[in-house]
Amino acid sequence: MTTTDLFTADQPSLREPADYLKRYYGYDRFRPMQEDIVRSVLSGRDTLVLMPTGGGKSVCFQIPALMMPGVCVVVSPLIALMKDQVEALHMNGISAAYYNSTQSGKEQRDIEDNCVKGKIKLLYVSPEKLLTESFFVFLKRITISLFAIDEAHCISSWGHDFRPEYTQLHVLKEHFPTVPTVALTATADKLTRNDIAQRLGMNDPAVFIASFNRPNLSLKVLPGTNRLPQIIKLLQQKPDTSGIIYCLSRKSTESLAAKLQEKGFKAAFYHAKMDPDDRAKTQEAFLRDDVRIMCATIAFGMGIDKSNVRWVIHYNMPKNIESFYQEIGRAGRDGAEAQTVLFYSFADVATYKDMLSESAPANLGLQLAKLERMQQYADAHTCRRQILLSYFSEDLPEPCGNCDVCRDPRVTFDGTILAQKALSAIVRTGERVPMNLLIDILRGSRSQAVLQGGYDQVKTYGAGRDLRFEEWRNYIHQLINIGVIEIAYDQHYALRRGILADQVLFSGRKIDLVRPDDAPKPVVEKVKTKTETQRDDLFERLRALRKKLADEQNVPPYVIFTDTTLEDMARQRPTTPDALRNVSGVGERKLQLFGKQFLDEIVGYVRGRVNAGEKPKGGTQLVTLNLYNQGMTIDEIAAERQLTAGSIAGHLVQLAKAGYDIDIASLVSPFERTEIERAIAVVGMEEGRLKPLFDYLGGRYDYSKLTLVAGLLQL
Ligand code: ADP
Ligand code: ZN
Repeated sequence: MTTTDLFTADQPSLREPADYLKRYYGYDRFRPMQEDIVRSVLSGRDTLVLMPTGGGKSVCFQIPALMMPGVCVVVSPLIALMKDQVEALHMNGISAAYYNSTQSGKEQRDIEDNCVKGKIKLLYVSPEKLLTESFFVFLKRITISLFAIDEAHCISSWGHDFRPEYTQLHVLKEHFPTVPTVALTATADKLTRNDIAQRLGMNDPAVFIASFNRPNLSLKVLPGTNRLPQIIKLLQQKPDTSGIIYCLSRKSTESLAAKLQEKGFKAAFYHAKMDPDDRAKTQEAFLRDDVRIMCATIAFGMGIDKSNVRWVIHYNMPKNIESFYQEIGRAGRDGAEAQTVLFYSFADVATYKDMLSESAPANLGLQLAKLERMQQYADAHTCRRQILLSYFSEDLPEPCGNCDVCRDPRVTFDGTILAQKALSAIVRTGERVPMNLLIDILRGSRSQAVLQGGYDQVKTYGAGRDLRFEEWRNYIHQLINIGVIEIAYDQHYALRRGILADQVLFSGRKIDLVRPDDAPKPVVEKVKTKTETQRDDLFERLRALRKKLADEQNVPPYVIFTDTTLEDMARQRPTTPDALRNVSGVGERKLQLFGKQFLDEIVGYVRGRVNAGEKPKGGTQLVTLNLYNQGMTIDEIAAERQLTAGSIAGHLVQLAKAGYDIDIASLVSPFERTEIERAIAVVGMEEGRLKPLFDYLGGRYDYSKLTLVAGLLQL
């Protein structure tokens, strides 16, 4: 067998959906619901799939498309993405095409021909194109296995991304009543869900609602003070990874990017007012890992399919939980660990409130309520993921263990008296003083401002002497967050009574506070996570190789292999094509295309480690292999490595058994081989015990020859 054959070994026949998952995508297992969805679609039933971003919707229609006769027509609004999606399918060895108006007449005719001949399994098309008369004529000529409607929420005017063209899609059912439809979306709410089924004219659809939990996203909230230094610390802990920093304004995307560039980071900015060319270029650079840090407004992300976004930072708090969840959802689509950080400050809340009251939308009340829920998330002293999921009506029975609250549980104490002291000082100063002055008054300071205002005369002057300034500040922040105190942004930031104030002062309402030491800390500590340990030097080398190959092929790096796949590879360190097959995400096509390069990289790495005196598993054989590949003989290798020739021969036999292209037979002459084989027939051989054989042959052949011939009998 030659090396190339090893990369294209005969495959068992494909029967079950799981066989397709393994061969084309390189995954061993379906994720929850995927298989049920595939089977539902295969049974010919209309199917509605609600799954979060990164949940794995694609295989839900791509595997049925592979298994059913005919072409699966995929309707997607994201024209800009189609090319990458089709490219990714090709990389997996799946024949696919997209159809759009930038193509020449000839290109389109070729695609049509290939569809008619059954050479294409998936055809991507925008709704506008799909609904043209000429396209319909074409559709009537081919066998359609399935319609897959991606981003199906675009059909609903309830959804946040309504596209009028989508509402016409019901004609598909009218013209092709027997072709099953699968609609997929990451939007969960009930209204949209019912709307989708109805407007597509789906026939008693099977509905699958996957959990919206994304356990690989860590959640963290940091105080919105000194954001830049905090961000820089975060970025320094994540060198060479891609991420997005969401900012509220276009201006802040630009200034933040500039500041980060000054500090030597590869940052760029993105917002809706940029020139379309620049925008496309910036986006492309990010997809290709040329730009790592994207400072962007929320305009960035819709349709960003990049799977290796490792972190999302919110420079400002989003205005509701839906937006927040969608934005952090762009991280970690490959399923590997990803970090999300939200900077939270009251000033942001105030800005939104101002914006809302100025524009006075019809649903002002609703929007304010949503803002409040967002704020509650940021203030929470209980598991943040439970709060998020409960917002989407999903129950997470146990705290998640992957948010800052779970990692660093808060201890609360009865802070009612503290709250009363602060409120009473606020009331007695006529709700006119800002925070710092109020704290001075509470602590009995003799500062100029205190004395000038005559505040040393108020009854609560000095009532809070026992606490440090910083402690007071922290408690007042907490009291603001829970609504006991309010900041009058329009009155020079004076503190005044919040909605809960009267209850605290007069009705004995109890207030729980968290000790400052337990509150979120601005200092970013280095926590060694599982991921970081997995991302060793080998991972970095594999990533560099991926980038090189991606640039050569002109595709985004994650299309070659995802971060999860590289992590798995770095962990398993496969050195043979078969072992590489066991890495999650290595399907047959990618094995053929890239297997050799990645194996060489791993072997080279292991060799370096061995030379540096380490003993990684399988390493010594690989060093021998490397020297052998340089053309050295067994004796030369033995001399170089100061090992016996017998050991080296043993390595070569093991390597050949593992599938490496080593012609053991060429290392012994036919005469030697025959004679040794005869001797083996007489005295037999035992693994690792060749002495009887050596003696029987009167020492005429050294151990390396014996090992080689013995090995040949086992190959
Ligand atoms: P969605 O369209 O729902 O956002 P994708 O279909 O793009 O998600 O899948 C997200 C990532 O998960 C992709 O990298 C995909 O290859 C991977 N993936 C999908 N199914 C599986 C599976 N069964 N096992 C491992 N990874 C999977
Ligand atoms: Zn948690």
